[in-house]
Amino acid sequence: ATPAATMVGTSIGAQNGVLFKGGDILERVRDVETVVFDKTGTLTEGEMQLTDVVVVDGAATDGGKRPDGGVLAAELDEEFVLEAAASAERGSEHPLAEAIVDGARERGLDPESPDDFENVPGHGVRATTSHGEVLVGNRKLLDDNGIDPAPAADAMKRLESEGKTAMLVAVDGRLVGVVADADTVKESAKAAVSALHDRGLTVHMITGDNERTAEAVAEQVGIPPEHVSAEVLPEDKADAIDEIQADGERAMMVGDGVNDAPALAAAFVGCAIGSGTDVAIEAADVTLMRSDPQDVLKAIRISDGTLTKIK
Ligand code: ADP
Ligand code: MG
Repeated sequence: ATPAATMVGTSIGAQNGVLFKGGDILERVRDVETVVFDKTGTLTEGEMQLTDVVVVDGAATDGGKRPDGGVLAAELDEEFVLEAAASAERGSEHPLAEAIVDGARERGLDPESPDDFENVPGHGVRATTSHGEVLVGNRKLLDDNGIDPAPAADAMKRLESEGKTAMLVAVDGRLVGVVADADTVKESAKAAVSALHDRGLTVHMITGDNERTAEAVAEQVGIPPEHVSAEVLPEDKADAIDEIQADGERAMMVGDGVNDAPALAAAFVGCAIGSGTDVAIEAADVTLMRSDPQDVLKAIRISDGTLTKIK
């Protein structure tokens, strides 16, 4: 393109909240064949709300290691499960954690900060609290700590098929329950996916969330289950992009989080969305200032010159 055309494209982009990091990027975007959306914060609002607290009385795996009996002596009810989980999550800044802490406070509880806290990336948290040794996270987290998540299987399945993120709670080596957070799918997400499909593009979704939750959300926005990659660890997101691009497919990765920076860099085009983190914007070729997934198509149309009118 001539420098003048590049200037026009860049300026139409800016007026539409689509920022291209240079003229070569502006020209590259039109060649994208596949769009890979991160789920949380990209297709969804990324504002979690605590929705469910379920008591599940699993067997103790250690015979009760606290001298005072710990949870074995305590009354096991929803309040105990939620307060223990929220107390552990006070150590975390994950959106899932903030929803649990806020939800507990809204329900009149006063979770204390943990005495000791450890983040287990992609899996959950471990903390020492006044309620005991608390684990909150996915099945893998419990498995890795020798606790059988099976007694919670029905509750987990039910919540996940509703598109919620369900997290197991264990105290002192014993499964005590499940808490669930829900996110809202962005209003325009479905229209964005269908417009990209209409244009002949392939659309994928990638997430650290579990398979059932991921597929429930994918179904709501019209992404087929075979194009969903779930339970992808933060450090594996870039590999997932490489895999999609393995036979030369040109992919645009669209994401908002710190976790997404390596994947944004690995993609043919990296696209940061919304208020995104500085790290994501740094790693991105394109930034969509508004948090609207429909702006992905706008970026492509600006690139190939079909969006010439300034609206
Ligand atoms: P995402 O792709 O949604 O950002 P993450 O990689 O951050 O996912 O987390 C993957 C999974 O690990 C979550 O769906 C959840 O099951 C578990 N997890 C992560 N952080 C926490 C936390 N603070 N509390 C409970 N579970 C967590
Ligand atoms: Mg994330």
